[in-house]
Amino acid sequence: MKFVEELDVRGRTVFVRVDFNVPLNDKGEIRNETRIRASLPTIQYLLGRGAKLILASHLGRPKGKPDPSMSLRPVARRLGELLGREVVMAPEVVGPDAARLKAGLGPGGVLLLENVRFHPGETKNDDALASALAEGVDVFINDAFGSSHRAHASVVGIAAHVPVIAAGYLMKKEVEYLRRVIHPAKPFVAVLGGAKTEDKIPVIENLLRKADHILIGGAMAYTFFLAQGKTAGKSLVEPEKTDIARGILAKSAELGVNFLLPLDHVLAASIESGRVEAVVEGLPFPADLMGVDIGPKTVAAYGAVIAQAKTVFWNGPLGVFETPAFAEGTVAVAKAVAEANAVSVIGGGDSIAAVAKAGVTDKITHVSTGGGASLEFIANETLPGIEALERP
Ligand code: ADP
Ligand code: MG
Repeated sequence: MKFVEELDVRGRTVFVRVDFNVPLNDKGEIRNETRIRASLPTIQYLLGRGAKLILASHLGRPKGKPDPSMSLRPVARRLGELLGREVVMAPEVVGPDAARLKAGLGPGGVLLLENVRFHPGETKNDDALASALAEGVDVFINDAFGSSHRAHASVVGIAAHVPVIAAGYLMKKEVEYLRRVIHPAKPFVAVLGGAKTEDKIPVIENLLRKADHILIGGAMAYTFFLAQGKTAGKSLVEPEKTDIARGILAKSAELGVNFLLPLDHVLAASIESGRVEAVVEGLPFPADLMGVDIGPKTVAAYGAVIAQAKTVFWNGPLGVFETPAFAEGTVAVAKAVAEANAVSVIGGGDSIAAVAKAGVTDKITHVSTGGGASLEFIANETLPGIEALERP
């Protein structure tokens, strides 16, 4: 994999895939600009060397067509302020307007394409879109670590159509830190939770060969309970993933991995209620209640395992931490990770926010911008977007 500093970019048109998937509020304002700031080293380096820059990113999950609530316009404005120079916004991903704006770029110019997922070809890794994105491009840089577990057109497909390809600063830094977890000091503890379990559960299978302990929380736990035939009331579950979950449970027993599910649960009637109805041990739950956090016994058990760890990887909050009454488990485990005498890596947009809420971000070895991407990188030791950069 080449690195941006190895290239001659003066006067060249450089296409950078960045991760500007920032959270917006309902007024369309940016709630957290960490991901914009994380891309600045690559952008500033290229501008300092006189490149012509085309930037591309997705934001949210528009369904392959324009959706004004997920426009990158607010990002273009903020990026312009941070760079102290004009960032031109293209009103589309590809097409005549984008082509005209690309052609008009001079050295030091910056063009941000509209949300790549406004185009239906992006998530299908459509080759016609990939080649249209690559039109007139001399160099492709992938700096979107957090998107590189997806074989999409602006992440993977485009690389085949551009003569020179390389990784940016953020990509390099993420890969360097996360490689330390691929060959972890033992015991290695993985803490997994969150809500996007459909993507994350299949990856756990590969983690079983590396981890000594896997501690499960969040909504993910209820799919594993369901796989054991235990129902969890109204809890968020992924019924289509129970077969994989059952396979993971069997394999962890076979490999001797200490695979732990929560011992007790904080139950609520709904997330919106913001109120705890009960703390219970064991399942099933009453049909009208849902699990929204791990309980105190689980916190103690997980804390004891984490205290012995030499390496900890964590992705996914252990409860609905955005609601104060349901945040205790996540905050307590965040503090346990911070206090452990271990290399600690935390990844994922919501996980970063949870660790910040616990006030322990400074005590974490590496805070990764990628959630699903960091998990998949550790489990599979590569990502589709990284493989696409590894061209001889
Ligand atoms: P990350 O962004 O760190 O990769 P995810 O996006 O997978 O993490 O999951 C974060 C979300 O999971 C949070 O919004 C949190 O409220 C939610 N969550 C955690 N536990 C539960 C639960 N038991 N039920 C419903 N949602 C949950
Ligand atoms: Mg998330």
